[in-house]
Order: sequence, then structure tokens, then C-alpha cells
Amino acid sequence: MISKGKTRFFIRTFGCQMNVNDSEKVAGLLIAEGYEPAADAAAADFIFVNTCAVREKAADKLYHSLSRLKRLKADRPGLRIGVGGCVAQLEGEEILRKARHVDLLVGTHTLHRVPELLRGTTRGPVVDLDRKADAFTVPDATIAHASPVRAYVTAIEGCNHVCSFCVVPRTRGPEVNRPPDAIVREVEGLVERGYPEVMLLGQTVNAYQFEDLDFADLLARVDAVRGLRRLRFTTSHPEHVTEHFADALRDLDTVCPYLHLPVQSGSNRVLTSMRRGYDRRHYLDTIALLRDRVPDLSLTSDIIVGYPGETDEEFQETLSLAQEVGFDGLFVFKYSPRPGTTALRLADDVPDGEKSRRLQVLNEYQQRLQRARNEARVGHWDEVLVDTIQPGGVSGRTPQFRIAHLPGAGPELLGQIVPVEITAAGPNALVARLTQPIH
Ligand code: SAM
Repeated sequence: MISKGKTRFFIRTFGCQMNVNDSEKVAGLLIAEGYEPAADAAAADFIFVNTCAVREKAADKLYHSLSRLKRLKADRPGLRIGVGGCVAQLEGEEILRKARHVDLLVGTHTLHRVPELLRGTTRGPVVDLDRKADAFTVPDATIAHASPVRAYVTAIEGCNHVCSFCVVPRTRGPEVNRPPDAIVREVEGLVERGYPEVMLLGQTVNAYQFEDLDFADLLARVDAVRGLRRLRFTTSHPEHVTEHFADALRDLDTVCPYLHLPVQSGSNRVLTSMRRGYDRRHYLDTIALLRDRVPDLSLTSDIIVGYPGETDEEFQETLSLAQEVGFDGLFVFKYSPRPGTTALRLADDVPDGEKSRRLQVLNEYQQRLQRARNEARVGHWDEVLVDTIQPGGVSGRTPQFRIAHLPGAGPELLGQIVPVEITAAGPNALVARLTQPIH
């Protein structure tokens, strides 16, 4: 039976930083109501699965997770199970039909009602998929940030783009820009609580516009918060990279030299079909502008392989774009048809084996490049913000968002920015040692 007090909850999150941040809000609200976090699902009285619908595989994870939870609930009938986020918004009550042991279903806009709705589940399943609810009503101080070092801060909810492959506008709705004063207040509060770094979040965060204040202006407002050490943001869209934005990356002290700028494809035909709003030339010119302003900028990207009708020549154009840019990191996905998207009308005609081959070609190229780049850093100095305590040491991120492991360093460094020398490198991480004792 769910009641306040000793009730323990566990949240399982799938998806991007925005989903993680949503879970942090739900966790904070539950804690504020007297619930306690459980160490794992087996120890919880309420299990909440926060979902991602971007690829079919992501949605499948929900059902795998729910079938495991069914066994848990058979042993403990008092257990409550909730599903929230993008798949819940997309599939709605279909989830209750497929998984009768689910007690609570909330969409992307009603996550803040979880504690209140949970109380109602004693009378049977509760569903709230109201799209008009204001998700920003979670008080800043209530959010239970998962990391003690890097705090996610919402800048924009939703997305106004119409990418043919993407389900996000359907699950999260149109863009809602959060007022800059509210963002700055939240960052001030985080800095007061000791956070050295914040990451501003939005599906297309650099599309931010509040009255006459654009994203570069917002960065300047946040950069001015006293005590903030590092400022990051994700995800950016090439269409919204302006000179003003590039200048902000160069000029603002706390803004890290790192940008995730999904390109999706190097073929103009595919980009047009994807409705990305730019072509190959424009993307490359954008990279040139950014590198001109910020020579040490680290760039990562997303690519979709096997988009409907993608020929081998078109894939080669994507590979050649990746080679021309030389990304510092790449996330490659096999195209996955999603409900309600315009690409669904196109035949998903690239065989899965061929999608896998293209994915592998890109990943192998990228791994070789990253290894060579990282090895070239050996012997160089860098600065690492320690964010994780690990067995036998700690790890953290350089300003360029490279992972650096510091074997032998102590947990007291958590949250500190430390000078290091790079001693070894692999494709996905650096190994480093402290260059001076930290007091
Ligand atoms: N809003 C960002 C943008 O438009 O660039 C990122 C959104 S999404 C959460 C992250 C990545 O998933 C996308 O950049 C894209 O590469 C990939 N993705 C989105 N829809 C997909 C689909 N239907 N199939 C395969 N990959 C997909």
C-alpha cells in the first residue's frame, strides 16, 4: 500500500539528458513528500520507468523492463509501477493494455503530478497525459540532481523543428522558452549549493528566444553568475548557429569549448528529405565559422544511417563529411521508423544488415580518429573537473568534454577542477595524473 513516510521509490531512466532531468524532478518531488530513494528496484515500493521514444529499440526497452517488473509485482502485490515520459505520451493507454500490472501512466507534461497521482492508484490505474500542464512548476530547490558536480537546467521544453524522422515534437510538443530570469535564478541557487558546472538543456537549445534575448544573450546572462566555473549546453541545431553564438563561445569565460552539433547526413538529397533546413555546404561553412572563432573547439555529432532510400553513394557522402570535419565524437544510429513522423510514409528499404555495416564503417573510422587524437594529447597539460569516484581513483571531464581517468587520486577531489598531465590515451578516454598537490 502506497502511503507517505517510509515508502521507497526507484526510478529507471531511458534516453537523453532531458529524460534524466525529468527523472531528477520526479525524484525531488517524491523526496519532498517524504518518500525515500531505494538502492535498487527490488527494494522499492514504487518503481517509475521514465521512457524514451526516439528509436524503436528505446521503446522496446520499456516493455522488457515491464516484463521483469511483472515478476517482481507477482511476489509483492503492494508494489506500484508507474510509466512516464515519451513512450507514455506516445502510446498512452495502449501500455495499460499490454502491461496490466502498470498502476500509473504520466506523459511528458504531467511528470510533476506523480506524487499526487500515485496516491490515487490505491483505487486502480491512474492516467494523466494532459499536454497543457506546465512542467516548469517544479521548484528549483526540489530537483534531486543525480550528479553532485554537473547540474542540468531546462532552457527550452519541446521542439519546433519538423525533422522527418523525429518523434520528439509529437511526444514533447512545441517549444516553450523558459524566462531567462528563472534560468539565472536556478543557476545562482545551484552555485550557492556548490555546483561548479551547469548544462542548459533543450532539444534545440540554441533556438532559444525570449522576447529579444537570443541564446547567445542567455549564455552571457548565465556566464555572469558569480562562482559558476563551467557552462555547457545541449543539443544545438546547425540552423541556429550565428556569428553572435560563435562569438559567445569564444568570449564567455565559463562556456566550455565543446559543441554537439548533429548533422544526421552528408548527402543533400537525404538532408532535404529529412527536412533539416541546411545542406552539406552550409553545415561545413558553419563548422568553419565555429573553428575560426574557437580554434580549440571540440565538436561531436549525431548521424543516422540507412534513412529511407539512402544509397551507398549517399552513405559515402556522409562518411566523407565525417572525414572532412574530423569530429571529436560521433553517435551513429540506424534509422528507425517512428509513429506519426513524415518519414514513416517512405519505405524503410535499407536492409538491417546494410544499416549495421554502414554504422560499423563510420564507427571504425571514428574510433581510429579518436585514438590518434587522444594519443596526440599524451604529455600535454589539461584541466579536469572531477565528477565521478571510481574504484582506485576518480574521473572527470576536460573543458572539451573528454573523459579523463585519474588513477590513485582521492575522492576529496570530487567537484574540483584540477590541473593534470595526460599520460595515456584510448579512443574514448584519457588517463592523467595530477601535476601538483591539491590542498
Ligand atoms: N533534437 C536533437 C536534434 O534534432 O539534433 C536531438 C534529438 S534525438 C534525442 C538524438 C538523436 O537521435 C538525433 O540527433 C538523431 O541522430 C537520432 N534519432 C532521432 N530520431 C531517430 C530515428 N527515427 N531513427 C534513428 N535515429 C534517430
